[in-house]
Amino acid sequence: MIGFDLTEEQANYQKKARTFAEKEMKPYADELDRRQGTAFDWGIVRRFARANLLGLNVPKEYGGLGVDLLTAALVAEELGAACLGISEAAGGTWLATLCLTLVGNEDQKKRYLPLVCGEQGNLAGLAVTEAEAGSDIGGIRTKVVRKVDHYVLNGAKAFITNAGLSRFYIVFATTDPQKRQAGLNAFIVDGDASGLTLGAVDDKMGLRAAQTGELLFENVEVPLENLLGTENTGFLIAMQTLDMSRPCLGAGAVGAAKAAFETALAYARERIVCGRPIIENQAISFMLADMATEIDAARLLTWRACWLVDQGLDSTKASSMSKIFATEMAERVCSRAIQILGGQGYTRKWPVEKYYRDVKASQIYEGTNQIQRMIISSML
Ligand SMILES: Cc1cc2nc3c(=O)[nH]c(=O)nc-3n(C[C@H](O)[C@H](O)[C@H](O)COP(=O)(O)OP(=O)(O)OC[C@H]3O[C@@H](n4cnc5c(N)ncnc54)[C@H](O)[C@@H]3O)c2cc1C
Repeated sequence: MIGFDLTEEQANYQKKARTFAEKEMKPYADELDRRQGTAFDWGIVRRFARANLLGLNVPKEYGGLGVDLLTAALVAEELGAACLGISEAAGGTWLATLCLTLVGNEDQKKRYLPLVCGEQGNLAGLAVTEAEAGSDIGGIRTKVVRKVDHYVLNGAKAFITNAGLSRFYIVFATTDPQKRQAGLNAFIVDGDASGLTLGAVDDKMGLRAAQTGELLFENVEVPLENLLGTENTGFLIAMQTLDMSRPCLGAGAVGAAKAAFETALAYARERIVCGRPIIENQAISFMLADMATEIDAARLLTWRACWLVDQGLDSTKASSMSKIFATEMAERVCSRAIQILGGQGYTRKWPVEKYYRDVKASQIYEGTNQIQRMIISSML
């Protein structure tokens, strides 16, 4: 039996997230998009913290909301509709806590998960990518050396969401670059660890409310007990985490597409050209029909991937499919929304150009869509 009804709890989360997005995110989206580079806005983080949204996927026993992945996707869609840039700070935190929840031991979970929960307002981040190792995770050069009672990390990470802002990071490093994937390890590193500094902050096309940048490691000492899993299992840990996170990323893109669609629909009803609303032209109304159809299709793919994860079933292929379809659909929908608004759509007076800039990133991070196609094709 297949049903598409949400449980009462899921519907409640969806409603609460919609209200939060409308009240606490939307009014700030434009300003934060414009002011990247001057200062990260901690006010927004405090609002997330008050709603415990940073601890969305953290199990209740560690202070989080402990929702299942489908509920997390419902929330991600609502937040994405308000501002993908603002929700990225929460998204980076979710990625780190998801990883820790999946593979951390009891002591690690007790020490770190509560730090992002409740009113504390701490962020976290997951640091895999390097300048020469993005799609090619096996190319990671950040080096880890085991000493008697601690590890030492040296190297640099690139494009890290919440870089320089996080209370802790999950960092991937290699014992031996020659071993490639087989030499990778994952560690919890405190944000204020000695030798860990913020490098250049990226001046981005979109997601400008979020801070993305380099993390530099110079003889950073990490306690032995902060190794996640066992030695040399870092590659598996990264893959497991991303398999689970990609549907939520897709859901955020669905949210942005929905917002662009709604703007375009309202505009098409009101804009009079040659004496009638432009929506009365089939060229416009069919574009809107395609947009509505594709948004629905993407949402269903993300829900299926989440459902598989929540049932404990193999979700790898479905997760990659949902990421590809939702993020590419979102770019198409945002582009059509700009087209429907004509010259207005190309200006910053309307939000559709921002949605377009924001959604583009989702085809790149958490594994590019080319890499997702490699995953899917290898499983066909
Ligand atoms: C806004 C933003 C936030 C990010 N946040 C994080 C974060 O929090 N943590 C983190 O670790 N990383 C983060 N990233 C980094 C992101 O995950 C990488 O940019 C991504 O994995 C791609 O790596 P790359 O940029 O090095 O591209 P490359 O690997 O150099 O790829 C360049 C192009 O070649 C294609 N390509 C590469 N190999 C193949 C192949 N075998 N077949 C076909 N095509 C191929 C890619 O798809 C891409 O189109 C973020 C990136 C952005 C833009």
